[in-house]
Amino acid sequence: MPRPGLFGWDYPPGCSGPPEPDGPCDVCGSDLDACCCPACPTCHVVGRPSCYGPAGHGLTLTAEQRESQDRAKLAADLEAERADRDAEAYAADLERDRLESAAHHPDPRPWYEIIP
Ligand SMILES: [Zn+2]
Ligand SMILES: [Zn+2]
Repeated sequence: MPRPGLFGWDYPPGCSGPPEPDGPCDVCGSDLDACCCPACPTCHVVGRPSCYGPAGHGLTLTAEQRESQDRAKLAADLEAERADRDAEAYAADLERDRLESAAHHPDPRPWYEIIP
């Protein structure tokens, strides 16, 4: 189901805009095409977090939504771990570059100071 205003972009007239955004859903965390959220009976919007709970429109999470949230959290954790590893690898690369360039240029003085 399209969600107008999700990205707040305005497209010029005659432009049909992008294909449907592919998630993740704000409520269950799944891609929107895999989203299992029911439409809110009050405002008929699918996957709007503010519809949930007594302060919203009284929607409650189904077991399927909870499972989906767990899966999304797991995926996010894996993603974060990978980002950490990438950052470490990057730092190691920088350090190696530094050592290598120090090895190639043992004397930091410019050549005209080194040559008598
Ligand atoms: Zn959803
Ligand atoms: Zn609602």
